[in-house]
Amino acid sequence: MDIRFDAKTAIVTGAASGIGLAIAQQLAASGARVVLADLEHDKTKAAADAIGHGAFAFVADVTKPDAVAALVAFAQEKTGALNLMVNNAGIGGPITPLGAYEIAAWHKVIDVNLNGVFYGLRYAIPAMKAAGGGAIVNISSILGSVGFAGAGAYVATKHALLGLTKTAALDHAVDGVRVNAVGPGFIHTPLVDQGLDAAAQTALAAQHALGRMGQADEVAALVCFLLSDHASFITGSYHLVDGGYTAQ
Ligand code: NAP
Repeated sequence: MDIRFDAKTAIVTGAASGIGLAIAQQLAASGARVVLADLEHDKTKAAADAIGHGAFAFVADVTKPDAVAALVAFAQEKTGALNLMVNNAGIGGPITPLGAYEIAAWHKVIDVNLNGVFYGLRYAIPAMKAAGGGAIVNISSILGSVGFAGAGAYVATKHALLGLTKTAALDHAVDGVRVNAVGPGFIHTPLVDQGLDAAAQTALAAQHALGRMGQADEVAALVCFLLSDHASFITGSYHLVDGGYTAQ
């Protein structure tokens, strides 16, 4: 199956690292013009420059609605349209039992992982309607369907994204906009490598039926399929790439 995105413009948030970077790379390799959005200018520009293929860097904090609106406007101005969006930016937050969870940390995780995705939908969907349709993938997690001790805010946001995804799909099917969610298992990225020590990572790897953590490009392959016309009858659903973590 040949997946191509020629003449399509895509935005990927959190694209300077990990899963978002792998998605941006695969989209560009398949012909898309990609706008990489992330927090830090130098890191984001270096990622876009390394991709080449007319990739653009844009600094945007997804917790700021005005920044997300400006990101979408930038993509339209630079390329004439917005066709594809991946709401990927996310943070893990602390690992703390809910009875001791810091209130400020709770709000931060909700702001990035849930409000940030809402802003992405809120501004990308009108742009896609103007372009005659489009496709969106929201990056949830296996923790969108099962719990994880100590990660209450993260688990709550990733579950919430599934309801948001279904509703966005129902609201905008009529506009030709498909919206899906992807649930990765534990994937080797800075988020996991900096958040969990080696012993925790070894234990977590064993929780996957395939006996290892995943790689970012294994997630990107599923995301690109869902964004492509090969997935033209798929909307409002949640797709796992989890090495069998939730099968047991
Ligand atoms: P990552 O390597 O930490 O990359 C996330 C990127 O998002 C970073 O560049 C980060 O910038 C950026 N970011 C953070 N807050 C942002 C904000 N407010 N606005 C814009 N960008 C922001 O993480 P990852 O592992 O690739 O995770 C990507 C997504 O996959 C997240 O939604 C995560 O929840 C999800 N996921 C990951 C795993 C996993 O095991 N890795 C599993 C399931 C789901 P800074 O580095 O400057 O903070």
